[in-house]
Amino acid sequence: MQQPLKACTNVLKPASQAGQVKAPTDAKGAPQESQKEQAVARQDEGQAAGTSGKRRWTIDDFDIGKPLGKGKFGNVYLAREKQTKFIVALKVLFKSQLQQSNVEHQLRREIEIQAHLRHPNILRLYGYFYDKEKVYLILEYAARGELYKELVRCNHFDERTSATYILSLARALHYCHTKHVIHRDIKPENLLVGLNGELKISDFGWSVHAPSNRRKTLCGTLDYLPPEMVEGKEHTTAVDNWSLGVLTYEFLFGGPPFEAPGHQDTYRRIVRVDLKFPERSDVSPEAKTFIRKLLTKEAQQRLPLTQVENDPWIRANADPELLARGN
Ligand code: AMP
Repeated sequence: MQQPLKACTNVLKPASQAGQVKAPTDAKGAPQESQKEQAVARQDEGQAAGTSGKRRWTIDDFDIGKPLGKGKFGNVYLAREKQTKFIVALKVLFKSQLQQSNVEHQLRREIEIQAHLRHPNILRLYGYFYDKEKVYLILEYAARGELYKELVRCNHFDERTSATYILSLARALHYCHTKHVIHRDIKPENLLVGLNGELKISDFGWSVHAPSNRRKTLCGTLDYLPPEMVEGKEHTTAVDNWSLGVLTYEFLFGGPPFEAPGHQDTYRRIVRVDLKFPERSDVSPEAKTFIRKLLTKEAQQRLPLTQVENDPWIRANADPELLARGN
């Protein structure tokens, strides 16, 4: 566990105040909403191409800009749709690598699920296309990048930032759950930050339709998984409520609660719900109570996402102004 240093307080500032990236606008500086509509309309045509004979997207429809990051199966680039000048993030995946790792079915599910979700705190997937070697995902551009980097830079967030983030995520996850989608992989690495500091849930690679007993190949970190998942039992949407508790802990204390030297130790701590708070910290008792309400072994006993906004800690700390800006 990292020792809490100074918490970041300004991470939620809009880009203009925080001295970051400018909003993508057209040549006249107009906001992109109408371009978005046009681009999405074209994307819908593109999606229908297989059955109607209409034209699909190709790489020639985009100007490719700077690389935004590197993933396991390919790279992500800033890109602009030529006709509408609409800015997107283009994720380029190599088919050979997808096949080698046997994840084509997983990618299909990810596309299917993410393309149907519409929420300000969920990264939009506008569409996809492919050629002989690659699959391209047309994604909403998250101008302020990975939340993980921000967390590492700050070590931990203050209570106002944490509560605001957590409430926005609770709303986004509740929306997913109303569509019977469980994300199952909520962690800082899968959260991006939009232009106004708003969180965007990304990476639906492990998401499924609820309920599920689909076993996750537990090759990555166990840190965010609830007891029922590490034990390979059937699970419901309540797995995301647990992860939200883990995330609250990590935002406030700088590391996940069940961290241990080895997989086995982490496993044991999760199954026992061995929850301890660092002694030397100025985090409020209300925040700890909130975390305990989500990190409950019995899935049905976890705080329902619809009740997150009524929790005393959230009510006292989540910033309504920031939430109105998309958080
Ligand atoms: P991924 O393959 O999804 O792990 O993406 C690799 C990296 O690219 C991420 O860690 C981000 O830094 C960056 N990235 C991915 N998607 C986006 C996006 N939609 N907007 C901005 N940056 C992104």
